[in-house]
Amino acid sequence: MAVVTQNPLNLPSPPKFSTLAEERQYRKQRLAGAFRLFSRFGFDEGVAGHITARDPEHPDHFWVNPFGVHFGQIRVSDLILVNDHGQVVEGKYPVNGAAFAIHSRVHAARPDVVAAAHAHSLYGKTWSSLGRLLDPITQDACAFYEDHSLFADFTGVVYETSEGERIAKALGEKKAVILRNHGLLTVGQSVEEAAWWFIAMERSCQCQLMAESAGTPVTIDAPDAALTRQQVGSHLAGWFQFQPLWARMVREQPDLLD
Ligand SMILES: [Zn+2]
Repeated sequence: MAVVTQNPLNLPSPPKFSTLAEERQYRKQRLAGAFRLFSRFGFDEGVAGHITARDPEHPDHFWVNPFGVHFGQIRVSDLILVNDHGQVVEGKYPVNGAAFAIHSRVHAARPDVVAAAHAHSLYGKTWSSLGRLLDPITQDACAFYEDHSLFADFTGVVYETSEGERIAKALGEKKAVILRNHGLLTVGQSVEEAAWWFIAMERSCQCQLMAESAGTPVTIDAPDAALTRQQVGSHLAGWFQFQPLWARMVREQPDLLD
């Protein structure tokens, strides 16, 4: 079987930056765009949910959504910067305590992770209540084959960094973790990648719930599932899948860049 090369189709790849300020602005723009997309997909649930982007200059700081602002109205200028003590050091809004407790520990445990996404999306939290990993029943679900884990320890809203540490431990080196009785959490080497994995995982949960309601889905065998993960589950693939969604969102809601 042919080995899949890193970029066989000469696809576009993530940009390089000459200054940290440029890189920060790019990350913040994609972060605001990711929130607009989460709103478009219906992933909001009141004030729950957070996506974080590590600051390129201060790697123990992250940008996150302002607590209590609807995902569908977040602009670049609304994003807040939080330090490693959970203090807002830039921006005029408060931070969600759960965002700090979980994301600060995930960013600390995974230096490769630039962004992490978590929301109380309907199919993700429904699937999470089953306490099971997703099966490779579609091509798209193979992105998560042997690349997601389960945190099977719900004890209320996550306000303690010690619980964030246990979530980070459950995540390990994978791209996603199912928080049982709670929802999904995905990570990536870019905002685009973390956001795309969340969208794809939520839809994979919906897909498996529907398939198991209708019958017994056929599972893709292990070697093919592993090969497909290489094809659709790479960092570059995750980044690339986000691009058309981002382009459409910026065209339709250019105020997100304000
Ligand atoms: Zn949550």
